Amino acid sequence: MNREYRILTTRISINSQRQFLLKHGKFVARWLTKDEIVREYQDLTILNEFREKFQYGFSIISEENEIDPFENLIQVQSNRYKFFDVNEYIPGAVYCDCKDFQLMSCRTYGCENWKRGVECTAACPMEYDCMNRPLQSTSNEAYLEVFKTKQYNWGVKSRIGFFRNHFIAEYKGMIKSNNDETVSSVYSMDLGKTTVVDASSFCNAMRFLNHSCLPNSYSSLRAVDGQWRLGIYALRDICSHEEITIDYGKNYAQNPEICYCQAPNCAGIIGGKKEFEIEPKKWREPFDEMTRFFERFFLRKALGNNSYLIRWSYH
Ligand SMILES: [Zn+2]
Ligand SMILES: [Zn+2]
Ligand SMILES: [Zn+2]
Repeated sequence: MNREYRILTTRISINSQRQFLLKHGKFVARWLTKDEIVREYQDLTILNEFREKFQYGFSIISEENEIDPFENLIQVQSNRYKFFDVNEYIPGAVYCDCKDFQLMSCRTYGCENWKRGVECTAACPMEYDCMNRPLQSTSNEAYLEVFKTKQYNWGVKSRIGFFRNHFIAEYKGMIKSNNDETVSSVYSMDLGKTTVVDASSFCNAMRFLNHSCLPNSYSSLRAVDGQWRLGIYALRDICSHEEITIDYGKNYAQNPEICYCQAPNCAGIIGGKKEFEIEPKKWREPFDEMTRFFERFFLRKALGNNSYLIRWSYH
């Protein structure tokens, strides 16, 4: 293939049109529909090549599952420490005065611990109703599955669904100083002011969390027993077998990578400027056209290839 132009990635716009990110020579890449590409370039082969690559749409493929995603990696139950900042202040848990049971006990700003980003201890007065101890007491890791995706290598999904704001799993790895030159730019997340958690070799399934311009999870720093830990929580309701994704943010990498998330607001590159921002909690109400669009979009993504193949027609 020796053309000046090529398609980098694709997305489905809000009005259900498939758009392609086309890069022509030195020009800035542009999002075009199939018709626009045909009109400007009179070239259908470029679309066919792309179709082959993306024929599974939002693909979740399993044929290559005999390869172990954790090969050469060390799975850990809890963080390992290469560095610990003794000078950093890490808030400690107090005996909160939460009393009455509510759906999110100890997970409201009325809770003295929650308010300060601290997990309660086992001595919490809410006892088993306390919802503010997931990093200590919840393990969903047995439900997590690392799977092979067609476009971007590995991804992670769960056999159980999650409600909005519920804990999914901890992002685990090696705690390093953020000055450490061995810190991976791809697999590290900030932890406190001077430390990062680096999952490049010591890790759990959360290492395989992919970026999406329309993610369904977020990270939140919590102090547990005098240590910072990074929890991954659901940004909206997530159905079982739906890929779990997060926004890597603007500072992701010096060398921008193409984004294969296919979301309607996709920036085309990871950490780039998105077409628009949507607050996920707004999707539900009112139950409008956009909500229905996103339900179809993510359901299809969760169901995988088959549901999508039937409908693939470049529109
Ligand atoms: Zn409380
Ligand atoms: Zn509590
Ligand atoms: Zn994207």
